[in-house]
Amino acid sequence: MAKCLRCKKEATIFIDSLRFCEDCFKIYFENSFLRAINGEGLNKKMLTKDEKVLVAVSGGKDSMVLWYLLKKYEFNITTLHINLNYGDFSEESLKVVKDFASKIQSPLIVFDLKEDFDIDMKEIFSRNKNREFCSICGLIKRYLLNKIAYDYNFDVIATGHNLDDGVAVVFKALLNWDLEILSRNHPILEKTHEKLIKKVKPLYRLQDKEIKIYADSIDIPHINIICPYKKGKVTLTKTKEVVDFIDKNYKGIKRSFYFGFLRNKNLFETQKPNLKECKVCGMPTTNENICNFCKLTGRKEIEV
Ligand code: AMP
Ligand code: ZN
Repeated sequence: MAKCLRCKKEATIFIDSLRFCEDCFKIYFENSFLRAINGEGLNKKMLTKDEKVLVAVSGGKDSMVLWYLLKKYEFNITTLHINLNYGDFSEESLKVVKDFASKIQSPLIVFDLKEDFDIDMKEIFSRNKNREFCSICGLIKRYLLNKIAYDYNFDVIATGHNLDDGVAVVFKALLNWDLEILSRNHPILEKTHEKLIKKVKPLYRLQDKEIKIYADSIDIPHINIICPYKKGKVTLTKTKEVVDFIDKNYKGIKRSFYFGFLRNKNLFETQKPNLKECKVCGMPTTNENICNFCKLTGRKEIEV
């Protein structure tokens, strides 16, 4: 019988070279979250109880687990869900998020791309055929998360990005020697401009498979369907497949790769970007005149 590394009872959960009984797995999982929050290995705390946190929740398992843990450990949170209007996928996401908000009695704000911002993603996708859907959608979500957090005076935005996400982004950036992405990737992005809100990733130490096990063991609801636009060629998904293949042969490589990257981050420092204000929306941009959000959505002015 394999024994749990913490309590020596029978181990039922096996992750790389770790093995736990169910109770000790939950302790290990929550400790990993708390280690991130306390900034272990990062030289600064990620979150304090004084900060007003906007939790970005999609309805997927990562952000639902993040929401549950931030609430459990009594952070000052409000949750934000953006309805992207992607048919059944978005309807189910909205339902999961709304039901959970009332179940755990946690404040939730919902914005609708079409109704609140007059953004039709289908139309944007068809105007930008040479760009990956996920990259367009990601840019729009990032812009709106920041804009909403800024407009509503939040101190920090928390997202559900996990270890697999961090590894894939850094691995892909290394393949391309994309120094800008390498210098920017970090679990804590401090406020660098009055209108650029601090961003944190409290699940950055945890793997996709660990979050799945935790979500199931606590019965945290989440959507099970994949975004209809994620099908086809998504290079980050392909990178994750390559990393998973390597991980099968080198157990624990994801952790050592990403944590090693964070320890060596100074190797990738680039000059701080020179920020200007977008002539349309006034938000900071590295572009000369108009920010990428306003270019993509083709807008002349914005009322958020
Ligand atoms: P993704 O880009 O879908 O991998 O999502 C990364 C993170 O962004 C999630 O863990 C959430 O924190 C946030 N997020 C994604 N989609 C939404 C959404 N529709 N509304 C609010 N936050 C979202
Ligand atoms: Zn703009």
